Amino acid sequence: MVDKKQINVSFVIPVYNEEESLEELLDKIKKVADEHFNKYEIIVVDDGSTDNTWNVLKKLKRELYPNILKIYRFRRNFGKAAALSLGFKKTNYDFVATLDGDLQDDPEEIPSMIDIILEKDYDLVSGWKKVRHDPISKTLPSKIFNFVVSIVSGIRLHDFNCGLKVYRKEVVKEIKIYGELHRYIPVLAHWSGFKVTEKVVKHHPRKYGRSKYGFSRFIHGFLDLLTVIFLHKYIKKPLHLFGTIGVLFLIIGGIIDAYFLGVWLLTRTLRVRPLMLLGIFSIIVGIQFISLGLLGELITITNREEEYKIKEYEE
Ligand code: UDP
Ligand code: MG
Repeated sequence: MVDKKQINVSFVIPVYNEEESLEELLDKIKKVADEHFNKYEIIVVDDGSTDNTWNVLKKLKRELYPNILKIYRFRRNFGKAAALSLGFKKTNYDFVATLDGDLQDDPEEIPSMIDIILEKDYDLVSGWKKVRHDPISKTLPSKIFNFVVSIVSGIRLHDFNCGLKVYRKEVVKEIKIYGELHRYIPVLAHWSGFKVTEKVVKHHPRKYGRSKYGFSRFIHGFLDLLTVIFLHKYIKKPLHLFGTIGVLFLIIGGIIDAYFLGVWLLTRTLRVRPLMLLGIFSIIVGIQFISLGLLGELITITNREEEYKIKEYEE
């Protein structure tokens, strides 16, 4: 066991209409942190709640956690990823733990997740809700989602979207999340060269309020997967993606129309046939795709960013 008493932790909690849970949640976190950690701070981002969340937070800060609790409030609901992103920016300590604000995640898991980071030199430990207390309408699509993401991303996790995760500070300062990309934090971290693993965690049923996501989460989730793959693989070289598709179309169109050219040369007669139209169509589409890729190149050339991430350095 590593002596966690020297460890400082920033807790980051995104909340959207979770007024009933907050007091109990902060109390649980305090108990764990007082027992295990040296210093800690709790950063709560109110993602544009329309209930009493903000007033509850202000009251908790004034009455119970004046120095520990840091609260931020969005002007409107910008989404969980945006809330996490602000929370990450505000963290001050070496370890960062994220939790959902609905009491489904258990803060008692955090010390052993930090152990895993320290003992095996990981950068991110993601919770795995092996036994889940959610309706089947959510758990089944989620299983499929996790399976596809783990195949596509090359990182073998069972539960990408668990709210409970523990990070080394470097991870949260490095990766950029927005929109609904919070689902892909382990993927983004892995692709940036961080060491990622998972740990089975306890999961509780939602006690108050209701889930903030409907079925649309799965459709959005897969569209975001396209974004993530595109950003990772092709943002530096959009022509490789669009150009390849374009060249394929050009080849198909070229072969078809070469055939018709051959027919015309030999027989000097030519009838317009569906296949001929397909050939012309393919050539046009091919040229369009290549131009699209070139336009993409033009855009990335004006927005070039460093591709590599530096782990440490001396100057
Ligand atoms: N959340 C948020 N902004 C949103 C939606 C959700 O900050 O637009 C928070 C929510 O308050 C909770 C966490 O993200 O703390 C996870 O949301 P939820 O429990 O509804 O998701 P589920 O458990 O159903 O996956
Ligand atoms: Mg929840």
